[in-house]
Amino acid sequence: MGTFTLGRVRDVEVKLHPSFGLVFLYVFFQWGTDASGLAGIVAVLFGLLLVGLVFACVLLHELGHSFMAMHFGVRVHDVTLSVIGGVARTEHVPSRPSTEVLIALAGPAMNVAVMVALAPVILLYGVTHGLASGGEYVDLALGVSVGSLLVWLFYANALMVLFNMLPAFPLDGGRVLRAVLTLVVGRETGTRTAVLVGQALAVALAIVSLVWLQNPAAVLIAVFIVVMAQAEGRAVRLEGAMRRLRVGQFALWDMGGIAPHQPLAYALRGGPRDLAVTDRGRVVGMLWRHDVLHELHGGSRLTVADVMDPDVVTATVDESVYDVQHRMNRLNRWAIPVTEDGQYRGIFTADRFVHVYHHLAPFPLAARRMTDLAASFRQGVRAWTR
Ligand SMILES: [Zn+2]
Repeated sequence: MGTFTLGRVRDVEVKLHPSFGLVFLYVFFQWGTDASGLAGIVAVLFGLLLVGLVFACVLLHELGHSFMAMHFGVRVHDVTLSVIGGVARTEHVPSRPSTEVLIALAGPAMNVAVMVALAPVILLYGVTHGLASGGEYVDLALGVSVGSLLVWLFYANALMVLFNMLPAFPLDGGRVLRAVLTLVVGRETGTRTAVLVGQALAVALAIVSLVWLQNPAAVLIAVFIVVMAQAEGRAVRLEGAMRRLRVGQFALWDMGGIAPHQPLAYALRGGPRDLAVTDRGRVVGMLWRHDVLHELHGGSRLTVADVMDPDVVTATVDESVYDVQHRMNRLNRWAIPVTEDGQYRGIFTADRFVHVYHHLAPFPLAARRMTDLAASFRQGVRAWTR
């Protein structure tokens, strides 16, 4: 389903998920019907204003995560608001535990900041309206007034902090727990433990809300937590597996690349592809296929050296597929020459991820991730060529 782009805040695209429409339905039932005893156009407008402000706080929460992530050099794709809240999609890079904690806490910190800002305003409102006891402040929430709006907004932010700090993936508290466990038992075991804790908590939450509160909405949230925790656990296991695979195992031996003095036309033997340029076994550049195709239009007499990209980026055979993938991603490179003791050993291209995938067969999600990765590489390279 298509999302609607609201705008951008400091390079972060803010989107609205179609399910957000349900929010208006909620406002109508909550404030537009007789059940609340406040029915009327004023009550509906009050509901719209309140819900609008609550979602502004949700957005603030997600931007808190986003800006902290950007501060640590993690790319943020976008922030999407849906009926169940907000999600900031960031580049999947495992950072140091301390960084992960800071990114996770930056969201709830925004809600705490809103609460700190609201508290004196609510107190001032209470004093000017002659409120004496704590109970009278709580009762403010019952009506349709500025005071009610302020109190509800305060509650909503407190609830966001409490809920998000539950130690359950993908909630912020779950990320903090994982980071702390990572320090003690390592990332993979830490994640596995955090996932189990989160799922147990989600099941407990569902039982409590069904039996005592008779509220089925929490069951949906619990299911969401269980599924997301599962996905997170799988992603980290996949990452661990990719860290154990050596890139040398997947490099393609292409007869030693191409020499700088050779005519450019030689590059097309065996079809257009990206080639490592080697001189006595050493990598001295990259010959990108789009450059070759571009230059050969007029049947030129250029040599490989005239067209090659002298910017040498290589990987060594012992590096993990995981690290190499991140380097390629960061540098926006489709192919990377693999060397051993400085000697060229073959080329590793994004297409080779298909073979990597065969070694990761126990991971059902891996196939899609690998295909996505190859597609995003291709898009990146295309955008770069234009
Ligand atoms: Zn959060």
